[in-house]
Amino acid sequence: MSTRDRLRIAIQKSGRLSDPARDLLARAGLSFRESRDRLFCYGESLPIDLLLVRDDDIPGLIADGVCDLGVVGRNVLREQALERTADGKPEAFRELRRLGFGGCRLAIAAPRDAGIDAIADLRGKRIATSYPRLLREWLDAQGIDAGIVVLSGSVEIAPRLGQADAICDLVSSGATLVANQLRELQAVLETQAVLAGPAQAFGDERADLAALLLRRLDGVLSVRNSKLVMLQAPRTALPELLRLLGDADAPTLTSIEGRAADVAVQTVCRGAVTWQRLEDMKKAGARGLLVLPVEQMLA
Ligand code: ATP
Ligand code: ZN
Repeated sequence: MSTRDRLRIAIQKSGRLSDPARDLLARAGLSFRESRDRLFCYGESLPIDLLLVRDDDIPGLIADGVCDLGVVGRNVLREQALERTADGKPEAFRELRRLGFGGCRLAIAAPRDAGIDAIADLRGKRIATSYPRLLREWLDAQGIDAGIVVLSGSVEIAPRLGQADAICDLVSSGATLVANQLRELQAVLETQAVLAGPAQAFGDERADLAALLLRRLDGVLSVRNSKLVMLQAPRTALPELLRLLGDADAPTLTSIEGRAADVAVQTVCRGAVTWQRLEDMKKAGARGLLVLPVEQMLA
């Protein structure tokens, strides 16, 4: 691999992962000059450039050293990792971070009237999928001998076309399954977008850039659902309020000028701050409740 002093990240050009990926990188402080061909974007704020590609190309670009990092679904990364190791190639990728978007599952589903009600009923059946290696790995682990029909798209209509008895495809809400009279039987893989990198460490300036990016991403990811909660309350209400703030960081308590019996509380809540929770805190004696979004955090 050649020595380079700029880092190159591949993301999906257009699709489910493109906007969240760009948004995440922007939150980590990365900005880019858009190029006319919309394939390569030069990094302005840091020496980190973007390559806009099809998601399926991302693992290969990393393995070939064309890109250093990539934002890709675990489903695509694992499938291609299995493909490479089956060809006798060494482990090429590492999943560096889970990114918290693009969540769905690779699941087996069958037509409602096909008599496939349990996974054992898949024996001897044909299952259509775009993820043959992940499916085969799962079937082998279950000791189920079934045929795999590889399709690159429109997997959900394969049973109706008589190409297969069941399917193994990505599912999030399940609406596509319902629309095609399919019933989910079993999840094979839980997936989400991940930041992928090569199995081998970078031996040059890219190592420092990748470490910087990971630190920033950790800051962004750790505050994604966090809220800053501020309130005032009688000191006697504190034990109950601290219980209600159970998932919060150690709170900062400040005395209030001229009101010795009261205290101001400030803390970062990691979980959802629901209306119910706020109402419970108010009932416990809290006043002036403020809930603010957290933009950045450097631990
Ligand atoms: P490309 O043109 O880049 O090849 P694509 O059609 O393969 O696009 P998308 O449909 O945008 O890709 O899906 C990209 C990724 O989004 C999937 O690999 C998966 O990780 C994730 N994803 C999340 N929810 C779903 C879903 N309901 N269906 C399909 N993919 C989903
Ligand atoms: Zn794709």
